[in-house]
Amino acid sequence: MAHVIDGKKIATEIREDLRQEVQILRDRHGIVPGLAVVIAGADPASQVYVRMKRKACEQAGMASFHHELPGDVSEQVLLDLIGRLNADTAVHGILTQLPLPGHICEQRVLEAISPDKDVDGFHPYNVGLLTIGSPRFPPCTPQGVMELLRVAGIDPRGQRVVVVGRSNIVGKPMALLLLAAHATVTIAHSRTPELMRVVREADIVVAAVGRPRMIKGEWIKEGAVVIDVGTNRLPDGSLCGDVDFDSVVGHASFITPSPGGVGPMTIAMLLQNTVNSAKARV
Ligand code: NDP
Repeated sequence: MAHVIDGKKIATEIREDLRQEVQILRDRHGIVPGLAVVIAGADPASQVYVRMKRKACEQAGMASFHHELPGDVSEQVLLDLIGRLNADTAVHGILTQLPLPGHICEQRVLEAISPDKDVDGFHPYNVGLLTIGSPRFPPCTPQGVMELLRVAGIDPRGQRVVVVGRSNIVGKPMALLLLAAHATVTIAHSRTPELMRVVREADIVVAAVGRPRMIKGEWIKEGAVVIDVGTNRLPDGSLCGDVDFDSVVGHASFITPSPGGVGPMTIAMLLQNTVNSAKARV
């Protein structure tokens, strides 16, 4: 039976450490790390994520600047807001909650954020730094996975890792971080033939697909580590991962639940990137 990695507990400990770091920054240097979150439109899932990020900031003693724009906001208004946030010395991190409304060019908005404040790590400059192995702001979800592995005592060095999913937000940066940690990495996606056979070769599987419970126990090599990034809402309103936990738990050595695994780590890493951005000003 796999050991279940408790992402919620690990994230809570990281957030407590960050609270203390924030206190020190405030007391010794008069700096209060500030995160600006920009949301456009009323997508219910985005609203929930933004609320969680705001609450997490406040609990850590950080400043949170909330900018809620209507769904029909023009791209120029959004770009102007980002320009002001770039110039605001109280703001150390800026994130735009994705997805943006369809009429707005997401890439243009991400590129407008100053790379120094790009705590999501999506600006091409920061993507480049990650690619050459010197990340400044590693994207929060993959960074959270690396932290879960570290705390669980799992070293990816020399391990065969299969990342299922190749998005810019999760799959690709995940593969780059694992590569930097000396894993042998395969990235699988919707055009990968014989996916089950590919996954069965892995010592570590990272699922970032967006398909409820797609990865089954029979796909998993005995003793493999299984990390479930997936967060899928089912018709009854409940959440589940991309991994079929019940059938996988008997084959894996370690497994993350979803919810309660990678999700809480994403927010903890966002706060950590913002605190690091503020520390760079000391
Ligand atoms: P995307 O939809 O952007 O990417 C999904 C990836 O999965 C694509 O590369 C796609 O392949 C691949 N894929 C889809 N179907 C299959 C299939 N049948 N077989 C193999 N590969 C497939 O999703 P994200 O990367 O943004 O998110 C992935 C999951 O992670 C979602 O459940 C999301 O909710 C969750 N998530 C969780 C976060 C957290 O904090 N815990 C943060 C971000 C995401 P192709 O490229 O060929 O289309």
